[in-house]
Amino acid sequence: MTRSHSEWKQLAAELKIEGRAFIAGEYQDAADGKRFDCVNPANGLKLADIAHCGEKDVETAVKAARRAFESGIWSELAPVKRAAILKRFAALIREHADELSLLETLDAGKPIGDTSSVDVPNAAYCVEWFAEAIDKIGGEVAPADPKLLGLITREPVGVVAAVVPWNFPILMASWKFGPALAAGNAVIVKPSEKSPLTAIRVAGLAKQAGIPDGIFQVLPGAGDVGKLLALHMDVDCVAFTGSTAVGKLIAGYAAQSNLKRVWLELGGKSPNIILADCPDIERAANAAAGAIYYNMGEMCTAGSRVLVHRDVKARFLEAFKKAAETYYPGDPLDPATSMGAIVDGIQHRKVLGYIDKGLSEGAKLLFGGKAAHADVGLFIEPTAFDCPRPDLTICREEIFGPVLSIITFDDVEDAIRIANDTEYGLGAAVWTADVSTAHKVSRRLRAGTVWVNCYEEGNDMNFPFGGFKQSGNGRDKSLHALEKYTELKSTLIKL
Ligand code: NAP
Ligand code: MG
Repeated sequence: MTRSHSEWKQLAAELKIEGRAFIAGEYQDAADGKRFDCVNPANGLKLADIAHCGEKDVETAVKAARRAFESGIWSELAPVKRAAILKRFAALIREHADELSLLETLDAGKPIGDTSSVDVPNAAYCVEWFAEAIDKIGGEVAPADPKLLGLITREPVGVVAAVVPWNFPILMASWKFGPALAAGNAVIVKPSEKSPLTAIRVAGLAKQAGIPDGIFQVLPGAGDVGKLLALHMDVDCVAFTGSTAVGKLIAGYAAQSNLKRVWLELGGKSPNIILADCPDIERAANAAAGAIYYNMGEMCTAGSRVLVHRDVKARFLEAFKKAAETYYPGDPLDPATSMGAIVDGIQHRKVLGYIDKGLSEGAKLLFGGKAAHADVGLFIEPTAFDCPRPDLTICREEIFGPVLSIITFDDVEDAIRIANDTEYGLGAAVWTADVSTAHKVSRRLRAGTVWVNCYEEGNDMNFPFGGFKQSGNGRDKSLHALEKYTELKSTLIKL
């Protein structure tokens, strides 16, 4: 159902917000009673007190997870039964879509039109997809000496910690807990302190669906909750989405503790290459605008570098400017809003700092460049720079905001070199009318996802998602995601 601005405001006013941790099947305050404020970045108002979990809570949750996992109550449930419970969980997420969309919008500043049509339905879809898959995949019988029967099976890895970011809070969490639960693990979610509300709410729905106590827990708190989980000797796996800097720390924590499995979905500086034979400049410009201004540019796959051929640059810039005009920050609760608020003051200052850096290093500001509605909340105008060189800071570092760096090239080889000249390798796109060029260029782009004549297509679960190089390892989505949450076992039976 589509709702009006005033309906969403009314629903928001009536919302009851849960801020406690979810441990061993119950909502609970942090053991030491500590709390922190959850604030709406669109108006600066406090939304709720959130449990600030610490060492004791991590201990309790890991113990509960271990107990529940070892009991077999979930891991040894017939896959068809686990699937049924997870489908109920997905259905409950859908039934509570208005509430969850509102929580996400109020907490993270994301437009309600997006949270209600993308984040929440796709989280439900992810849980459902892995539920549907899990009773349909089996193991292997290895070719072996006829006197030997060799079975190759997958077993759940055990206690999985999912440490997730604030840009797509419920969706990124579901990309972890969907496959991890389906595979039979016990999962502890650590949401970002900037956006804990949907993870906390969803935990109650998991219980309602029939997921046993201890199998799904949520520990809100600061980064050190993630650190404690990643250092814990009884956590078997950390699935992380966040910055490359914290990803490196997590890999180190695993090395310092029990060599737990570490899966990292990290940052990006994805190139969007417009070749001279781009089949439709207007479509490319619209896609480029969505690639950098959707979700306020707070996207790991943001097309934050446009590489455009000199011959089509003028036409592209004209069409891009027009496309960018459809994005302007507004009230996240208004379904007509295409851009919401920046998640918090730290991120807001960081993005504005990059804009200053672009100006001081000689990039030409094409439009935007300022905070918007500064008297109300944390908003930033859609911004684009024409960059004289590809080595400017704004062309190299992930900004994670609505700031595009446009780089001009004359030759395809140059474009490929510039595109790959980054520590990241998450997404990339190329626009061309020639099928051979499309294949040749996409093969040479070092990125986990390459789009040809589109950007951010493929919302369904069938495509593995993740990065090359310092954009991480392992893949979310698709059946490949199950590899993260299972161990392979060979069983050899002498006949
Ligand atoms: P972040 O600062 O790395 O935080 C990610 C998560 O790690 C949060 O829950 C955070 O908790 C926690 N954390 C912070 N310090 C930690 C530590 N020392 N040990 C363990 N956990 C710790 O990233 P972010 O700013 O939230 O998110 C933005 C980044 O995520 C961007 O770089 C973006 O590209 C990346 N991202 C990647 C993908 C992908 O799939 N590749 C998707 C979305 C976002 P607190 O927030 O409470 O401190
Ligand atoms: Mg943080």
